[in-house]
Amino acid sequence: MSKQKLLFAASEVYPFAKSGGLADVAHSLPRALSTEYDVRVIMPLYQFVDRGLFGIKSLGEPFDVFMGGIVYPVELYACNYEGLEYRFVYSPLLCDREFLYGPPDSGYEDNAMRFGLFNYAMLALLKREKYAIAHLNDWQSALLPLLLNKEKTIQTKTLFTIHNLAYQGTFEMAALKTLGIDDAYATMDGLEFYGQINFMKAGIAYADAITTVSPTYANEILTAEFGCGLEGFLQHHRSKLVGIVNGIDTEHFSPSEDKALVSTYVDLRGKAVNKSAYLKETGLKGPRKPLFIFIGRFTWQKGMDLLIEALSKIASQECNISILGEGEERYHAALKTIADTHDNIHLEFGYDESLSHRMYASADFLLMPSLFEPCGLAQMIAMHYGQIPVVHHVGGLADTVHHYKEFDAKRAEGYGIVFSKPSSASFLEAVDEALVLYETKARYNKIVKHNMLCDFSWQESAGSYLRLYEKMTEKRSRG
Ligand code: ADP
Repeated sequence: MSKQKLLFAASEVYPFAKSGGLADVAHSLPRALSTEYDVRVIMPLYQFVDRGLFGIKSLGEPFDVFMGGIVYPVELYACNYEGLEYRFVYSPLLCDREFLYGPPDSGYEDNAMRFGLFNYAMLALLKREKYAIAHLNDWQSALLPLLLNKEKTIQTKTLFTIHNLAYQGTFEMAALKTLGIDDAYATMDGLEFYGQINFMKAGIAYADAITTVSPTYANEILTAEFGCGLEGFLQHHRSKLVGIVNGIDTEHFSPSEDKALVSTYVDLRGKAVNKSAYLKETGLKGPRKPLFIFIGRFTWQKGMDLLIEALSKIASQECNISILGEGEERYHAALKTIADTHDNIHLEFGYDESLSHRMYASADFLLMPSLFEPCGLAQMIAMHYGQIPVVHHVGGLADTVHHYKEFDAKRAEGYGIVFSKPSSASFLEAVDEALVLYETKARYNKIVKHNMLCDFSWQESAGSYLRLYEKMTEKRSRG
């Protein structure tokens, strides 16, 4: 029997475009799902995507997409990359931009129209080809369930995954008209949100099922503390919400095969070669000192205020610290001021995939003091590369990192240093524990080796998604 078709939609997919973990998930999860489904991953064909490098070709003449009474020419492109089929939506309005969503610190003013068009283009595709499931990710593809609700004739079932509730796609009410959506949908039960429209609400209200990226985050978003104003709405729809923890692509992130590394490795001796090379590269001194790293977006969410508050104190200890990231200007400035006066802090602004791999391979500890964390991939990558993460007990960090004091070699879960209060004092205590643990070499090594052998792949979570798809499509066939 031929496989049913699955459309997996995201606004960023590695290696074509990436600003964070969503791109990693949209790269690796569809691969794991392709054993059971005939998958097409679909994303916008941003102008900076290298068409030549990936062999991205047009699927034919542009066609017209009607949105809010205006006709937009849209062209579909395709490529097969590492055995998986990709579809790309090209339209000048959506794609001809320097950034994915807007310059740092802001979004493009016409993002409602840009991503509205992306959703209409997917609707057009669903009219042409029969898909059993459309798996939609974050606000940029959250309008499709509403468009299907309007349409009524297409049988495709929709799953909406929330990767980060802090980004909801809210726009002025006037955008409703340009999106061609009737006022009837602009209610509290639909996409109205404090006098604005909210794309994420459309996904939550009209998708057949909703997931978020860890079980703990699935519970947290039902509370005022983490619900970003949508907690009541999510509670209303909680019967269709489940948390499924993300995995990592253990082929792309594999210390024994990673081409970005100075030297691939399977044990701590091999890892030390990478650390020496990295210290040389950055000018940091002292291979025996523990190396702490931070890799991520410089936003409030990632605990940047805690990190900045604690940084000088951490640096006053016998250790090295290396930070890679980009984001809000105020954090750039604060980090630079501290790094300028400490020669054991190395700071790199920007986004550099290959450098991040070298850092994962070199460091002893990953710092991840996130205030909230839907799932987080960096901590899993770090453990897989032989590090001990220092994390705040929240969201997916709580599900994937267990406190090292409860270490049990028989349990197939990763261990780290877990602190429970999001304060710089608790964070500093955790860092102190890390320094002590580093000196207790036998114990440190045992935990690191255990972390390296843990299974952080998609294996189990892909199974959960497949069971969910099955349940969604069963309902349909039973009528
Ligand atoms: P996010 O909230 O940004 O999605 P995750 O931990 O889920 O956080 O995923 C972040 C992903 O992006 C990881 O693969 C991490 O290594 C990568 N990453 C983040 N910032 C950078 C950067 N500046 N350079 C390279 N990779 C980065």
